[in-house]
Amino acid sequence: MRNQNFIDRDKLYGMLENNAPSESQLNDILNKARKLKGLNLEDVAKLLSVEDEAGIQKILDTAEYCKDDIYGRRLVLFAPIYTGNACVNNCVYCGFRKDAPMPPRTRRAAPSAASTSSWHL
Ligand code: SF4
Repeated sequence: MRNQNFIDRDKLYGMLENNAPSESQLNDILNKARKLKGLNLEDVAKLLSVEDEAGIQKILDTAEYCKDDIYGRRLVLFAPIYTGNACVNNCVYCGFRKDAPMPPRTRRAAPSAASTSSWHL
């Protein structure tokens, strides 16, 4: 599995086609989300297929509920720490994608990556 593309693009796009949830399915997924135990890929695909305004508002309300329950009224920032510029995937928006022109690809060894991480703490 290492160094192999693990993103099944065809499967992901296939899940988005004609997959809009019924109102009952949408409510079930959002109730599941409010339990803060996570959603599966099929749930997320259905949420991404919602197009009507009322359904989108329900998703936003649920997202706000989950965010407030998990983080409270705080602003939380995440900073990725890159340990290399080699990637086997090809996300179109990303400068690290495998088809992007760039200087030689490198990966940092674990000790070097750990020392870089310590700068940010
Ligand atoms: S976003 Fe960039 S680094 Fe991340 S998997 Fe896609 S191509 Fe690779």
